Amino acid sequence: MDAVVVGGGIVGLASAYYLAERGAEVVVCEKGSLGGGSTERSAGGIRAQFSTPINVELSLASMAVWRTFEEEFDAELAYRRPGYLFLAREPATADAFREQVAMQNDLGVPSRVLDPDDAREHCPELRAESFRLATYSPTDGFADPHLALQGFARAASEAGAEIRTRTAVTAVRRDGDAVTGAETDAGRLDADVVVNAAGPWAREVAATAGVDLPVAPRRRQMLVVDPETAVPESVPLTIDLDTGAYFRPEREGAALVGGHFSADDPDRDPDAYRRSFDLDWATTAVERAGDAARYFGPKTRIGRGWAGLYAVTPDHHPIVEETLPGLVSAVGFSGHGFQHAPATGRIVAELALDGEASLVDVSALGSDRFERAELIEERNVA
Ligand SMILES: Cc1cc2nc3c(=O)[nH]c(=O)nc-3n(C[C@H](O)[C@H](O)[C@H](O)COP(=O)(O)OP(=O)(O)OC[C@H]3O[C@@H](n4cnc5c(N)ncnc54)[C@H](O)[C@@H]3O)c2cc1C
Repeated sequence: MDAVVVGGGIVGLASAYYLAERGAEVVVCEKGSLGGGSTERSAGGIRAQFSTPINVELSLASMAVWRTFEEEFDAELAYRRPGYLFLAREPATADAFREQVAMQNDLGVPSRVLDPDDAREHCPELRAESFRLATYSPTDGFADPHLALQGFARAASEAGAEIRTRTAVTAVRRDGDAVTGAETDAGRLDADVVVNAAGPWAREVAATAGVDLPVAPRRRQMLVVDPETAVPESVPLTIDLDTGAYFRPEREGAALVGGHFSADDPDRDPDAYRRSFDLDWATTAVERAGDAARYFGPKTRIGRGWAGLYAVTPDHHPIVEETLPGLVSAVGFSGHGFQHAPATGRIVAELALDGEASLVDVSALGSDRFERAELIEERNVA
């Protein structure tokens, strides 16, 4: 089986690895440099506290890989697990948290509901009085996306995949319904399977095969700050879900701060967005983080920051399916694609080689859900 993977981000490289490991002849085409799309602009968060069973299952299957990644891939990952702390201000959010924790526990996630005062055990400077309810799961955490990408890239090469950077796929080739390969700016590649792992460019790649996938690029920003009070490394990734603000410890008291506080720009062109952060946004992000926890007082210093793209679908779930015979789509991760890449890579290999997925039942992730209006909304989106 010959496979062309479009995109050298974390999803494309994990897919390439699992395909090559199972014996496929794989060529990865990356139009820029590896990780130069969203992957290296990610916060690296890895959590099982999602609001739908399918996202929880993708997390659990991926976390099983992340846990053993350093041994399995002989690579560093800088995987830390101080947990994730979700915070609710509104009654409806708190009610949803209770239901979600019950669902997560049924699936084996050790998350629990906490009184905000008790959450201060994990986040000592939390403004507990501002919140109605918290949830915490000790196995959530974060890793270094750059290290993860390098690990998958090397493993894919060692398993026999050929990785071509500065090679753009200009069209997915079809003969009738079936896909027969790809045109690139460096010539034609015949293949039994083409994997669309083009992140924020996924809609454009799909369009060259005559398919419309509802995946939109959405700009999101991150900051590294020097907080007024150092954030200990034991503090969880903390999300104030009703304002959208989140933060997590970096090293030596510094913190990453993120969140999205305004309506989305149309952001139609993933090649033309501002990669630096906006100062107004940064001020708001630090203020909102400060509304959640006292670390971020007025003396907090903004260091560096950046913007990247989420690839968002209308229900904040990915599309993972064989869209046409020979065209496997793994797109639209809506801000969760770093953490879900290991499970997705294995599922892509299953769809390509076995014709169906067995690791996780991904039937809910087909693109036909948008036509049937059977959306599966993820609530825990930051
Ligand atoms: C600020 C920010 C914070 C985030 N935080 C988290 C987080 O905490 N946890 C989490 O799980 N996720 C997070 N994400 C989301 C995560 O980064 C993405 O979901 C993930 O990186 C998607 O990986 P990908 O491989 O699908 O896409 P990408 O990394 O974008 O890779 C797609 C690649 O395809 C290439 N490409 C596109 N078109 C073509 C073509 N025609 N030919 C050849 N190559 C092509 C691009 O150049 C690109 O390198 C965050 C994202 C941002 C922006």
